[in-house]
Amino acid sequence: MIQTDLSKIKDYARKNEKQNWKFRSYLKFIDQTDAEIDSLVVEISSAITGRINCKTCANCCKEKSPIVLKKEMLLISSRLEISKEEFINKYLENSEESDELRISKRPCPFLKNNECEIYDIRPEDCRSYPHLHKKGFRTRLIGVIENYPVCPIVFNTYNQLKEKCNFLA
Ligand code: SF4
Repeated sequence: MIQTDLSKIKDYARKNEKQNWKFRSYLKFIDQTDAEIDSLVVEISSAITGRINCKTCANCCKEKSPIVLKKEMLLISSRLEISKEEFINKYLENSEESDELRISKRPCPFLKNNECEIYDIRPEDCRSYPHLHKKGFRTRLIGVIENYPVCPIVFNTYNQLKEKCNFLA
């Protein structure tokens, strides 16, 4: 069964916190290559993504603060008919993890009626969220655990991965 109820997901995330970190350690030492793990994650998450409607969820737009690259700032500010500087002052802040800038407010100020107002020119960080198709899943497990209470695709993928990897909590 796929869980899509965001409040239940948050509850499970609280209950499963220790287990999630244990599984992270387990995955690091499991007898499978990075490529095998990556392809298993893509297989599981693709099946789940096909059964989830991001338009009715939009929870990443409410709870995450995506990075906006310089070239994206130009594109978005031009769409908004404001200068890049004005766009930065109004919508962005420094990121703690890198020297890049991220959207400063949550929910995202461009989310209107659960739809993205700048969808066709949305930042790459939004486009590729929840990043499960990227290589190196095992190197990004802290981010995966952070996204577990936020994104139903991550929540269900990580849980199914536990089963497929014979993880006994
Ligand atoms: S990517 Fe995840 S959090 Fe974002 S809308 Fe889709 S299911 Fe919801």
